Amino acid sequence: MKCEKCGAELSQDDVCEYAGQTLCEDCYIDRISPTKTCDPWAVYTAKRTQNKDIVLTPLQQKIYDFIAHQDYSDIDTICSKLSITEDDFRTAFATLRHMELVKASKEGPKIIYTLFNKK
Ligand SMILES: [Zn+2]
Repeated sequence: MKCEKCGAELSQDDVCEYAGQTLCEDCYIDRISPTKTCDPWAVYTAKRTQNKDIVLTPLQQKIYDFIAHQDYSDIDTICSKLSITEDDFRTAFATLRHMELVKASKEGPKIIYTLFNKK
């Protein structure tokens, strides 16, 4: 038995049927997900996790804590205070944003970062 989409070998238990096709679980989830403009599956997974124990990496936790204790922070401040690179910050921020923990907004010419629930 093979997935018709990606060709993965499937055992009987792994088979998902969708619209007459035999699919593996990954392709099945892919099929039933709505259009992927903003990776809805990741958002869904993040949202689902939010009510349980959120597990952040130490770096994400550090950034979250820092932002939580500031009125607002820009990327220069965050990176210099935490001694991290902009790339580190952007990667961690993408995850935190997906989990709806922090957000970015425009304040004049600057992009600032605050907690997601903060007005
Ligand atoms: Zn597949």
